[in-house]
Amino acid sequence: MKRKKKNVVLPAIRVEDHAGEGRCLARVDGKVIFIEDAVPGDLVDVRISKSKKDWAEGKAIHFHEMSKDRVQPFCTHFGVCGGCQWQMLPYNKQLEYKQKQVFDVLHRIGRVPLPEIMPIVGADNDRYYRNKIEYTFGNKRYLSAAELNDPNVSSYSDVGGFHVRGFFDKVVDIDTCHLQAEPTNEIRKAVKKWAIDHQWPFYDIRMHTGFLRTMQVRLCRSGELMVNVVVAENKPDQLKPLLDHLVANFPQITTLLYTINTKANDSLYDLEPIVYHGKGYAMETLEDFRFKIGPKSFFQTNTAQAEKLYQVTRDFAELSGTETVYDLYCGTGSIGIFVSKGAAKIIGVETIKEAIDDAKENAALNELTNTSFYAGDVIDICDDAFFALEGKPDVIITDPPRAGMHEKLVQKLLDMEAPRIVYVSCNVATQARDLNLLGAKYEVTKIQPVDMFPHTLHIENVAQLILRK
Ligand code: SAH
Repeated sequence: MKRKKKNVVLPAIRVEDHAGEGRCLARVDGKVIFIEDAVPGDLVDVRISKSKKDWAEGKAIHFHEMSKDRVQPFCTHFGVCGGCQWQMLPYNKQLEYKQKQVFDVLHRIGRVPLPEIMPIVGADNDRYYRNKIEYTFGNKRYLSAAELNDPNVSSYSDVGGFHVRGFFDKVVDIDTCHLQAEPTNEIRKAVKKWAIDHQWPFYDIRMHTGFLRTMQVRLCRSGELMVNVVVAENKPDQLKPLLDHLVANFPQITTLLYTINTKANDSLYDLEPIVYHGKGYAMETLEDFRFKIGPKSFFQTNTAQAEKLYQVTRDFAELSGTETVYDLYCGTGSIGIFVSKGAAKIIGVETIKEAIDDAKENAALNELTNTSFYAGDVIDICDDAFFALEGKPDVIITDPPRAGMHEKLVQKLLDMEAPRIVYVSCNVATQARDLNLLGAKYEVTKIQPVDMFPHTLHIENVAQLILRK
C-alpha cells in the first residue's frame, strides 16, 4: 500500500499570483500550488496539507524573500484581529486582485459570453469607512502564540474589542481600530475603564456569567452617533451611572440605548433596546434620500460606497420614468428608494418583516407614493398571481445573500422575461452560477465591481442583463 507522505515542504517557491479568497498560487512541475499566508512576489517554503493530481494546497511557513509589493500594515492588531486580512498589500494592489478575481470567477463558473469588466470602483477612504461597529467585552483575552507559552501571562483579563475567528470565547483587546472614525475607540475605552473601575464583571460567553457584554456604535454621515450598550442582567441602578457618564463625556452621542440580554447568544434580533438618551434612532443619507436607522435596522455598512453601488445599479437599470421595477431581497428598501425617482413603480420583497417595516417607513419619510413592500420569502411571494397583481416587470433588481438566488427564483425570472435584470452580488461565485442559468434568455451586457470593504477579501459586483430578442 502506498503510504501518504506527511509533512511535505516545498522549498523556495516564488508566489506567482493571487488565486481568490486571499489565497495565492504558484506552479511547480506543472502542478498548481495554492498557498495561504503569502502574497504574490514572496519567496516561501510551503508546507503541503493536501495534494491531488493537478493541484495541492499548503501554507507559507518560511519567508526567504518578502514581495516588493508588501507594505507595513497600519494597524497594530493586524494578523491577530483578523478583521482586515489584506493590510500588507497597498490598496491599489487589493483592487487589482479583486478585479482579477471577478474576471476569473465569472469566466470560469459563468461560462457565458461576457463584456469587458469595468474597472472596480475603489473607495476614496480606505479607513474609517464603516458606519457600524459591534464591540465585544469579555473576560478572556486572546493571546498571541508567544504569550501562550509565557507562564506569566494569563488569558483571564477584562477586555474590549472583537471576537477572534475560531475562538468564540476569546476577545482581542483593541487599542485603536481604524474602521470607524472617532470617538468610536474613545467610547469603547471609556466603557471598559468605567466597568473596570467599578468592578463590573465582564461577560464570560462560555460560562454565561458577568454583566458587560457588547456595544454597537453607529456613526452616520450627518454626524449623528447612536450607541447601544448591552448587559446581561436587568440592573438599571448599576447601569445608569455609566450611561450618564457617557452622555456627559461624549456630547457627540445623539442617541444612547441599552439592551438587557440574558440569552446565551449575542444576537439582538429578539431583544428590545431601551432608549436612554436622544430620539432612539439615527438618520443616514444617500444622495437626497433619508433613511431612519433604528438600533436593529440593517443598512449597508459603508455609506459612501453604498451610494456608489446604488448609482451603478441605477445606471444599469436605465430607467426612463415609466418602468415597473422589482427590488428583490430588498432589505430596508434602500435600493428601490434610491432608484424610485426614475420609475413608475417600485415593488420590494424581503424575508425579514422588521426590514420591510423600515422600508415602508423610509418610503414615507422620502414622500414616495410609488412603492410597495412585501415581507416573505422571494420564492413564496414571487408567483404568477403576484406579478399579475403588481404588474409585468420592466426591470428586476436582485441583491441576494451570499448563497445567490434560489434556482426556483431564477426559473421564475426566466419565465417573466423582464427586459432588464440588474444583479447586485456579494459573492461572485454564486452570481456566476446564476448568470449561467439566466444565460438561457439573457445576455450579460455590463459588469461593474465595487469595493465596499477595503483591506478585506469581500467583493461586490453588479451585472446588467438584457433579454435577448
Ligand atoms: N438590497 C439590500 C439588502 C441586501 S442583503 C441592501 O442593499 O441593503 C440580502 C437580503 O436578502 C437580506 O436583507 C436578507 O434578509 C434577504 N433574504 C435572504 N434570503 C431571502 C429570501 N429567501 N427571500 C427574501 N429575502 C431574503
